[in-house]
Amino acid sequence: MPFTSLGLTEPLVRAVAARGYEAPTPIQVEAIPAILRGGDVWASAQTGSGKTAAFILPILQRLVETERPRGRFVRTLILVPTRELAAQIGESIRRYARYLTAPPKTLIVYGGVSINPQLIALGGGADILVATPGRLLDLLDHRALSLSELSTLVLDEADRLFEQGFSNELRRVLTLLPKKRQNLLFSATFPRQVQALATNLLHEPTRIDIASEPETKPDILQRVIEVDIPRRTQLLRHLIEENRWTGVLVFVATKYSTEHVADKLRAAGLHAAALHGDLSQGARTQALANFKAGTLQVLVATDLAARGLDIAGLPVVVNYDLPRSTDDYLHRIGRTGRAGEFGVAVSFVSAATHAHFRLIEKRHQLDLPREQVSGFEPVDLEPPDRPTGGIKGKRMSKKDKLRAAAKRDGES
Ligand code: AMP
Repeated sequence: MPFTSLGLTEPLVRAVAARGYEAPTPIQVEAIPAILRGGDVWASAQTGSGKTAAFILPILQRLVETERPRGRFVRTLILVPTRELAAQIGESIRRYARYLTAPPKTLIVYGGVSINPQLIALGGGADILVATPGRLLDLLDHRALSLSELSTLVLDEADRLFEQGFSNELRRVLTLLPKKRQNLLFSATFPRQVQALATNLLHEPTRIDIASEPETKPDILQRVIEVDIPRRTQLLRHLIEENRWTGVLVFVATKYSTEHVADKLRAAGLHAAALHGDLSQGARTQALANFKAGTLQVLVATDLAARGLDIAGLPVVVNYDLPRSTDDYLHRIGRTGRAGEFGVAVSFVSAATHAHFRLIEKRHQLDLPREQVSGFEPVDLEPPDRPTGGIKGKRMSKKDKLRAAAKRDGES
């Protein structure tokens, strides 16, 4: 089936053709006509199914057909769990809108950056606002926008919105919306909270269920963040607060570091505890029980203590120190993304550990993008002259020394 038969206008069809898409994906075939008709949609679809275009294309078309009211009104609100997803959707909108004669005014807002430019940009309203819930509420508190004329609400990756602890924010936003509106709900999984939301939110929705391939691999988003060694604790704090991570397992290299990092986090007001082999069994059991129950937000552990940990629904693992052995990398990140749930694994790399991380990637055939977080950009670019020790692959192993000696012998 060609894109032209879905009811999309020529500039939008041209934009998808320019992207090189030959035919719509199954979710696009079902969602685009349903959204164009103005009804509610409830779609279960994974990232990678083409779901972004499935809602952006018909939204663009409907916006072009009607005029924006004057004032600080937002016409389409797309709520997403993370700033990365917000940025990604913003990029998709830009691409798909490129041939429209009057592209809708689109704004992307999320926390962790100054609110002032967002306040200014929202003057005069917006056709599309892509937002994370926390920042949206901040903006509403500043009276920067009004949702009273909203025509379409999109909740993208709704399951992750709940995982990130946004249920209160969501509830508040929903009370601010007009009764008559179109609701589009996208989610990879349908845990209880999402089902309850769908029942409350949606009115006679078109149900789209794109059968995904059975999940053989766990769904873990692997992120690599470049940061200088002395700034890791601050960055960790920043990430926890910004992403509202509710359960974070942090791996460090030594028992001392578990205590040190946990102390620092506690001093910053977070509920954190250390877990390592020298603690009494009672203390370990207690820390784990608290972590599993959710009363403890951050558990800072060594590999030894973490072996075999099975924490249902653990959302985030952080490699504060990289694992010495490349195999332990998979072992560590596998603590999250269990039982088909989504997980995030963040690894900090510094000048001294870049080479080691490349080794880990090579071993597992990974090629992960490096990220930097605003305010935490590394300034240490060169690896230190002296080996820091403790990093496998940096120092020559006995075998490598023998090999090198044999090579020298052979060459001489
Ligand atoms: P999404 O599921 O929205 O994250 O999209 C996953 C990827 O599929 C993105 O890189 C899109 O550019 C791409 N994509 C979306 N629609 C199509 C299509 N009809 N044909 C080929 N690729 C597509």
